[in-house]
Amino acid sequence: MYELLKIEGRARRGRFTTPHGVVETPVFMNVGTVAAIKGAVSTEDLERIGTQVELSNTYHLHVRPGDKIIKQMGGLHKFMSWNKPILTDSGGFQVFSLAGIRKIKEEGVTFRSHIDGHKIFMGPEESMQIQSNLASTIAMAFDECPPALAERKYVEASVARTTRWLERCIKEMKRLNSLDDTINKEQMLFGINQGAIYEDIRIEHAKRLAEYDLPGYAIGGLAVGETHEEMYRILDAVVPVLPQNKPIYLMGVGTPANILEAVERGVDFFDCVYPTRNGRHAHVYTNHGKINLMNAKYETDSSPIEEGCGCPTCQRYSRGYIRHLLKAKEMLGMRLCVLHNLYFYNNMMTEIRDSLDKGCFHDYKKAKLAAMEGQDEN
Ligand SMILES: [Zn+2]
Repeated sequence: MYELLKIEGRARRGRFTTPHGVVETPVFMNVGTVAAIKGAVSTEDLERIGTQVELSNTYHLHVRPGDKIIKQMGGLHKFMSWNKPILTDSGGFQVFSLAGIRKIKEEGVTFRSHIDGHKIFMGPEESMQIQSNLASTIAMAFDECPPALAERKYVEASVARTTRWLERCIKEMKRLNSLDDTINKEQMLFGINQGAIYEDIRIEHAKRLAEYDLPGYAIGGLAVGETHEEMYRILDAVVPVLPQNKPIYLMGVGTPANILEAVERGVDFFDCVYPTRNGRHAHVYTNHGKINLMNAKYETDSSPIEEGCGCPTCQRYSRGYIRHLLKAKEMLGMRLCVLHNLYFYNNMMTEIRDSLDKGCFHDYKKAKLAAMEGQDEN
């Protein structure tokens, strides 16, 4: 259940109640692709750095270890020892972007596993069954994510199919949630808006989605090659059309600046691999922009990544020490950077929520963007 607590312009401060606890929004979900945050970050760490929602990838877990094994182990929450909300994606994005040779039909998609090449079929029913086995808090509808630059005709046909697939997802989830041996019988389904960069297709699709009274709605297929301005234009068009009494999730986005801009446009949920991926490559976020710890000037720098940062890394370790670990390819180097970056994102969301509570989000956003200016390339 979504409760709107405060509104400033179109920016929303809300609270989303789930069977696995309350999510204060706007929120940044921390991405743990294979039920682990890359960079040797444990669920214990996630608790320390203020993570509210963990996100796992359906496709990856289906291929390895297999969703049936996770079900046998009591579901994803038990498996990875995390008792807060988990969102699983539908597998669609990976199927359409990673997986080899694929065939799209009305029933679903046939593709080859990236692990051992064996043939897999996934349609709306299969995606729901896998996510039900994983027993995540929030499941995502199985959709096609057409490339940002796909032709209009292709996008129209694809979006129509995504709507038909949503109907099948709703039906299948209802069935699965009523079975005796289903682990999470209150699993929620979010629908996904598509339409590449065609505003009118997006708006029509958003209206269609709104007809199905779903617990939440996502905007997919952005940040896949279009410019930031195009993305903001789509958000300006689509967000107001989606039901305002439900959370709105912008999938796979983005930089701190992208998140601030999207919050201003009414988005509540985010996820992105940037903080973890950048951390693994020595790129760490600060309030004055991103820095590269491999840079020689940090060799004898005894200050933390960021003065005043409350993360476990900055409490104890210096830039010089972390730089040494990274140079020596010690796993701890990556881990410390990822912990700091995730904390930076989680903490920025706390600041956003606080500023919304106080009615000064606009000023906060302006100051934050000005401080980070020019150094915000993903
Ligand atoms: Zn830090």
